[in-house]
Amino acid sequence: MSEPVRRKKELKPVRLISNTEIKSGVFVIELEKIHDFIPGQIVAVAMHPDDDLRLYSIASGVDYPYLRILFDRVPDGQLTPPMSELRAGDTLYVTAPFGRFTKTPENSWWIATGTGIAPFISMAESGEARGRTLLHGARYSERFYYQELFKEKMGDRYLRFCTMEEGPGLISGRITTFIKESDEIKPENKYYLCGNADMVVEVRQLLLTRGVPFDNIIAEIYF
Ligand SMILES: Cc1cc2nc3c(=O)[nH]c(=O)nc-3n(C[C@H](O)[C@H](O)[C@H](O)COP(=O)(O)OP(=O)(O)OC[C@H]3O[C@@H](n4cnc5c(N)ncnc54)[C@H](O)[C@@H]3O)c2cc1C
Repeated sequence: MSEPVRRKKELKPVRLISNTEIKSGVFVIELEKIHDFIPGQIVAVAMHPDDDLRLYSIASGVDYPYLRILFDRVPDGQLTPPMSELRAGDTLYVTAPFGRFTKTPENSWWIATGTGIAPFISMAESGEARGRTLLHGARYSERFYYQELFKEKMGDRYLRFCTMEEGPGLISGRITTFIKESDEIKPENKYYLCGNADMVVEVRQLLLTRGVPFDNIIAEIYF
């Protein structure tokens, strides 16, 4: 459930360029870009100016001519069912970009499940993947959204953890098992976690147990 987001920022009407259901229940919309942003930032979105706002990570590179959002349709949600029905030329209300889940240093680790991959798409498309490692978790192989981008940009520093299927290049099991056991988890690196609260809380606890200081764990929780 989303808390109403306080309306500190002005909403602007923007035109939808496209809406694609990339997998069942998962959509990518492209919007007219009216602001610059830093990879990892978010926007608040509404169908109508008086609606409660919902937050979305920007999922496109800084030099792209449009703003991309990757989202799940929550069947009984307020925003995502109507947002998934939008067509090119329709209007959505969007704030200026904001947020501090940005500027991940080289040698940092990116950790994501589900649509929590969105900010890392923006970072990878903005030339920020070099020297980073991405741990990407999903149940099924088709649910590693934008995996071709990460394979291309990160090579063998892109690790896909799949819990319900086996397949070429996939690691069977959960990200958490890797974090518990890997010699590569070093306290001095920074860890950027993005996804649902259960994943973020569990991974953060494991990293703390592995000796990573709290300040080296930066989280974006999709509540
Ligand atoms: C920083 C941040 C970034 C985010 N980025 C993304 C992103 O890139 N992609 C993405 O898909 N999502 C993202 N989210 C989540 C997103 O903001 C929305 O929460 C999500 O899309 C659901 O919105 P909705 O309006 O469709 O559902 P909501 O109306 O918020 O409902 C969600 C669930 O809560 C339940 N619910 C609603 N109201 C109540 C109530 N009063 N009591 C009990 N249950 C209730 C509903 O039944 C439903 O199951 C992000 C969240 C945050 C905080």
